[in-house]
Amino acid sequence: MKARYSVIVPMFNEEQVISVTYERLKKVMDECGDTYELVFVNDGSRDRSAQMIREISDQDECVKLIDFSRNFGHQVAITAGMDYAEGQAVVVIDADLQDPPEVILQMIEKWKEGYDVVYAKRLKRRGETMFKKVTAKIFYRLLSSMTSVDIPTDTGDFRLIDRKVCDVLRGLKEKNRYIRGLVSWVGFKQTMVEYEREERFAGETKYPLKKMIRFALDGITSFSHKPLKIATYVGFFLSFSSFLYLFFVLFQRIFFTSWTVPGWASIVGVNLLFNGIVLMLLGVIGEYIGRIYDESKDRPLYIVSETIGYRNEEEVDRRKDYKDVR
Ligand code: UDP
Ligand code: MG
Repeated sequence: MKARYSVIVPMFNEEQVISVTYERLKKVMDECGDTYELVFVNDGSRDRSAQMIREISDQDECVKLIDFSRNFGHQVAITAGMDYAEGQAVVVIDADLQDPPEVILQMIEKWKEGYDVVYAKRLKRRGETMFKKVTAKIFYRLLSSMTSVDIPTDTGDFRLIDRKVCDVLRGLKEKNRYIRGLVSWVGFKQTMVEYEREERFAGETKYPLKKMIRFALDGITSFSHKPLKIATYVGFFLSFSSFLYLFFVLFQRIFFTSWTVPGWASIVGVNLLFNGIVLMLLGVIGEYIGRIYDESKDRPLYIVSETIGYRNEEEVDRRKDYKDVR
């Protein structure tokens, strides 16, 4: 019995790369000898990406399209792909060919050996700005120092997961999703393959600084309470130092009567500094409260406007009959 794979490709304005991505994925997946589907999730692209996949899907029944009603974000697009995927193993890959599709074959090898999660660790990142590389390095290390979940450094969402891991992930309904963290959190037998990240094949990055910051904050707030504790530590430290300073002032006042009050500059300076710290800590608390608010509204994660390539209901349900063929 042949195994069946689902390859999930989130895409946002990727018309310049998507047909080449399709060709390369198809070539690689044909090599593996099993059956597969390519699930393209159109995350509200404003260009021809969706139209192009629609046309390809008319020719090739392995190709499916989940079309969102608007842009919901990369992590949500991956989540939708997992919801619709039928395969016994699910691979997530970027649309821009930065993750070489050929690595999927190595992942499949590992899966057949019995691993449930095979993530891809980047040894090198080509064609990315110094700024992105440095901030990414710092971020992954900062995150791992803050959380007890063992999230591997320098890995993206390029990975293969087994059906049972996919089903567990689908049950985690949190709204601000940091998928690579969730995959680590669920456990199971995990391993890695190493690869060199290529340059983007064409087009621009779809992760401007604003999205990157949001993503980083999602990662930290989903997996650590440490930022909240900073308030406590800073508070203790400041109270203690103020206490010492008060002693010093009293001491001077009593024993050196000629001592006079210095100018206003220091008072204003200290005031501004402390107000700044208080506001910053309020902001940290606000980040968490905002996320609690998102959870409590309980809106759906995404809205699908159309699905293409799901030719009959049976097809979607077929995964129920799968047996473990590894
Ligand atoms: N992407 C998406 N929605 C977004 C932003 C990005 O689906 O809002 C997709 C994008 O099309 C690509 C993947 O997520 O397939 C990674 O994005 P990108 O390559 O631009 O990020 P980078 O590699 O520069 O970090
Ligand atoms: Mg990219």
